[in-house]
Amino acid sequence: MVILVASGNPKKLAELDRILSEAGIEGVDLRLLSEVDPYPEPVEDGRTFADNALIKARAGAVATGLVTIADDSGLAVEELNGMPGVLSARWSGDHGNDQANNDLLLAQMADVPDERRSAAFVSVCALVTPDGAEHVAEGRWEGHFLREPRGENGFGYDPLFQPKGESRSAAEMLPEEKNAVSHRGRALSQLVPVIAEMAG
Ligand code: IMP
Repeated sequence: MVILVASGNPKKLAELDRILSEAGIEGVDLRLLSEVDPYPEPVEDGRTFADNALIKARAGAVATGLVTIADDSGLAVEELNGMPGVLSARWSGDHGNDQANNDLLLAQMADVPDERRSAAFVSVCALVTPDGAEHVAEGRWEGHFLREPRGENGFGYDPLFQPKGESRSAAEMLPEEKNAVSHRGRALSQLVPVIAEMAG
């Protein structure tokens, strides 16, 4: 069975691949966007992670006729009512500029005391089939928004996020340590039974 992972990021495909093999699921051929006929990518104008994940997964399933998985993720800061949320990648207005996004969020949170700095990385993964069946799963990674960046690994808000029970920031963890516990893996894992049934 072929599943489209509606992303340009090979790391997302690799993570789903690892989760499927750990679950003993065989015979699933995962493809990235670059491996299918090109189609217009939809505007991600949803208000929630689930809205955006579904927008991307539906577009893939309709355009390619393949079962499609898409995810949307970001950092939800409790003090900011869950923002940057779906705006995580473009919080500063400059899409994908991690430095500018981090600087702005740090400045906005400067006067917020330690006990009100709870934050979570959230990932919502949507699986949509060509006949219109939809499955949505959410994974959360709870923690604390730091006062200054720490660590060089990872990407995005990793240097400013300290997971619950950890003394290190997410950017001080090894990539494999982060993958084993992070929001995206938690969301993808919940789709395993659905994929197992389809593949079986
Ligand atoms: P995307 O859904 O993978 O496009 O991620 C959206 C944005 O959320 C990224 O640009 C990052 O700013 C943030 N984000 C999502 N996951 C992570 C993570 O694991 N670490 C750090 N930042 C993340």
